[in-house]
Amino acid sequence: MQKIYVSQCNDYSVADVDKAVNFCMKDFARNVKKGSSVLLKPNILIGRSSEDVVTTNPEVVRAVARVFKEIGCKVSLGDSPAFGNLRKALDTCGILPVCEEEGIDVVNFDEAKEIDTLSGPISVYKGIDDFDYLVNLPKAKTHGLIGFTGAQKNLFGLVCGMKKSKYHLKYPNRYSFSRMIVSLANAVKPSFNLMDCVVGMEGNGPSAGSPRKLGFIAASESAPYLDFFVSDLLGFKYNEVGTLDVEHSEHGLDVNVNNLNLISNIDPGKLRVKDFKKAGGLKLGGVMSLVKKYVSSRPVISVECINCNRCVENCPADAIAKGLKRPVIDYNKCIRCYCCGEICPSKAIVSRRTLFGKILRL
Ligand code: SF4
Ligand code: SF4
Repeated sequence: MQKIYVSQCNDYSVADVDKAVNFCMKDFARNVKKGSSVLLKPNILIGRSSEDVVTTNPEVVRAVARVFKEIGCKVSLGDSPAFGNLRKALDTCGILPVCEEEGIDVVNFDEAKEIDTLSGPISVYKGIDDFDYLVNLPKAKTHGLIGFTGAQKNLFGLVCGMKKSKYHLKYPNRYSFSRMIVSLANAVKPSFNLMDCVVGMEGNGPSAGSPRKLGFIAASESAPYLDFFVSDLLGFKYNEVGTLDVEHSEHGLDVNVNNLNLISNIDPGKLRVKDFKKAGGLKLGGVMSLVKKYVSSRPVISVECINCNRCVENCPADAIAKGLKRPVIDYNKCIRCYCCGEICPSKAIVSRRTLFGKILRL
């Protein structure tokens, strides 16, 4: 039975986060050798204040780093944001000061190498094998394309910079993209996964949703079972999460939550969220995929737009053109990857249902 560690954590005070992280890491840390090198991989999707809950909270990063430092490990931290410079993004979200205070090296994922996966070769950060441990630190958030972004999806940040767009184009729909993420996650296999679920994101995730207090931290050596456990608490069925759907159908993920081995300091039933708002994305298969562009939710640019043109420059399908007041989306070209929403600095891109989608209640 897969072990899942769960600890109550009401806020981001150093004391509360320390206690929760130490509870979740106690068994794993026991086997870590002194002098090991550790690469922490938080979610730094884009440089935004930690209050926007787009990124892993700095205090979670600090507490995990301290666990390894106490053992005598050398701790580094890296990511490849969807847009812009890593150090700037880390500064904006409050992680750079933590790295400086705790003596954590910052590693920019700027050089790539190809690794073999079940979805074919994927280009990831070249130095990934230079570390004894890869420790995955995702944030619990909704995701317009795959439903929920947790541990497995966070590993897409190992793909260097704009190469991410290439994979969005190569794997343009929910199933193929989820399958690529699962293949990548299974190929790199993090040593440990610890999810920041103190305050998660609901609604229009992964970057334009709303903060939602969840009040816990959860961890596991298994990324898919951690995603399954947390998404289940938030009210997702396994097949509403693209990556879990693939894990179940292709890799036999056991989707009976009662079969998990929970090591918890709180009754997990108390953490269940009954009215968690899911993202507006839509799962379509079979004949419905043929009419996808007419019925599925689509990105819409709102009046919040500051016309910075980031979305124009980063759309993998070249579906966004510059406009006088704001850019214009060509829905015939749009592959509904929601990259534009991820990188928009002003939360101006929202997912909306089409008229047909509303009529069909999709
Ligand atoms: S929608 Fe967002 S990313 Fe695109 S131009 Fe407007 S503010 Fe910039
Ligand atoms: S418009 Fe947005 S959702 Fe559509 S392909 Fe471009 S980045 Fe993806």
